[in-house]
Amino acid sequence: MRQTIPAALALFTLAFSPAHAQSPKTLDVYVIDVEGGNATLFVSPSGESLLMDTGNAGAAAARDAGRIYDAVKAAGLSKIDHLIITHWHGDHFGGLAELAGKVPIAEFIDHGPNVQPGELADTFLAKTYPQLIANAKHTVAKPGDKIAMTGLQVVVVTSAGQVLKNPLPGAGKPNPYCAAYKPGDNNPEDPQSVGIHVTFGKFRTVHLGDLTRNKEFELMCPNNRLGRVDVLLGLHHGQISSNSAVAVHALHPRVAIMNDGTRKGGEPDVMKTIHSSPGLEDLWQMHFSVLSGQEYTVPGMFIANTVDDAPSALPVAPLPAVAPGPNAPPAPVHNGKAYWIKLSAQQDGSFTVTNTRNGFSKVYQ
Ligand SMILES: [Zn+2]
Ligand SMILES: [Zn+2]
Repeated sequence: MRQTIPAALALFTLAFSPAHAQSPKTLDVYVIDVEGGNATLFVSPSGESLLMDTGNAGAAAARDAGRIYDAVKAAGLSKIDHLIITHWHGDHFGGLAELAGKVPIAEFIDHGPNVQPGELADTFLAKTYPQLIANAKHTVAKPGDKIAMTGLQVVVVTSAGQVLKNPLPGAGKPNPYCAAYKPGDNNPEDPQSVGIHVTFGKFRTVHLGDLTRNKEFELMCPNNRLGRVDVLLGLHHGQISSNSAVAVHALHPRVAIMNDGTRKGGEPDVMKTIHSSPGLEDLWQMHFSVLSGQEYTVPGMFIANTVDDAPSALPVAPLPAVAPGPNAPPAPVHNGKAYWIKLSAQQDGSFTVTNTRNGFSKVYQ
């Protein structure tokens, strides 16, 4: 009895302290600028963490790992509990070794070996990755797998070219957008992406890595196995090889947060699909993209990052996409201070999105 009184008092103090009242337990998501790559950090109300991807390789690896580590520190984390490498492209695993040198990673999740041969991924998987995972848990994800995080339901919905067989609870209705679907694919590795669906109370969000149109169709047709979400994350950098209406419109997001780059994604046709998505209230972007131009971009208050040598205005017309390769002219550079977009979700399904560059914040009740 004597021992339970102080415990009860401590609980009472915790429950009624003003600090506690002002910071209700939220699911926080940090969408980090890695220049048209991916790095998305989920932090559960209990402080458990899940990072999807680690930004770019080569000269950009230290920069991107540093940007991710800034978010890790801001979230008050001392380790990454779960890391997903969605697929073996340099804009997704590139900063991993550098990040692992800064913060411990308890579990590495991937789709299995790379299916697209390439010097960067081949060497990384043969030489570096085995060392990184040697003293950690390593999981090859399958659709339907759950990633254990207290207070959240995290379900793998795609991996290694396979999609979820059975609908999520409450989902599975016929998808009316399937009839207008046009096939489209790009490379062998993007369709392998590990994608996840996250539920926190009434709040729902999904991140499908760089999953391509053909896989969107397999996942979402003839029945929508994911149902509706509040926030759609990632969007494959806003590129046209993903983002069919089959996925975007059927998911019916209130908000989309796109991990585009200065000259990667945000092309006119993608912007048309997103902006015509039923129920969409706002699109937030990691970057101004010259592929949007003023004609297709969202207002700057919804965009987290500019470029180092920022022009006073974005040209009205979008620039055509540049074929990647050694002859491609350089994209506008952003190596300076970078800003993340922070999403904070409540159990009741409401959420707040904040642009940390300009402090603009919007509550979605
Ligand atoms: Zn940037
Ligand atoms: Zn990518």
